[in-house]
Amino acid sequence: MPTYVTDGVILRRVDYGEADRILTVLTRDHGKIGVIARGVRKSGSRMAAHTDLFARSRMQLARGRGELDVLTQAETLGPHAPLGDARRAACASVCAELADRVLESNHPDEETFQLVADALADCTDDDRDPRAALVWLSRRMIDRLGYAPQLYRCASCSTILPQVSAWFSAVAGGLLCVGCAVADLGAVECSVRVIKVLRVAADGDAALYRRLRLDEAELVTLEMVAERELAQHLDRQLRSLPVLRAIERR
Ligand SMILES: [Zn+2]
Repeated sequence: MPTYVTDGVILRRVDYGEADRILTVLTRDHGKIGVIARGVRKSGSRMAAHTDLFARSRMQLARGRGELDVLTQAETLGPHAPLGDARRAACASVCAELADRVLESNHPDEETFQLVADALADCTDDDRDPRAALVWLSRRMIDRLGYAPQLYRCASCSTILPQVSAWFSAVAGGLLCVGCAVADLGAVECSVRVIKVLRVAADGDAALYRRLRLDEAELVTLEMVAERELAQHLDRQLRSLPVLRAIERR
């Protein structure tokens, strides 16, 4: 079987048969692919750690005859922190599920790979806020899906928004002025500061975004906005979101 080498992160995994695992891997060079890792649930398997959720490895894969390629070798890329923290693990799960849902198989895209790999790395990094990482990934993915929201003019009447709070409406596709906000009871009130964060994310300015310190109320608002948009644009809700909500409420 011909083999190839690529970097990959594990988005999803299921146990299969006696000792195998089937993995959904986002790779740098081949996009999202299905992989079978044989024998990795046997004790002492050298490759077991590379099949952990959210692990990032350089993988050697053999082209399978069917849908799945076969993991033949792997080497860890960078530190792989264990996700003992429930909140971090829950955020990483939402990031991985979002990537899995949104990305088509076998469509390589370097920027998307980096975006997802960075978000998952931030979720395990004690110096990073995993919720801020999730908000960033959601914003960038919504943009990449072609649903970039209207953030400078009212999405309904097109007036330029003044420097005051506005209401985010996923149905209208962006911020609404005070006059139009009543039309969508599900619209989320956004402070001037939240609007600024949305605009920074829309500009794709990762360096500036990382410098912003988001407080609890801002994070909650940004999460609500992203959640409404994802509900609007994906046909099913992300399964891992209610888990994250339950952990946040504790
Ligand atoms: Zn308006």
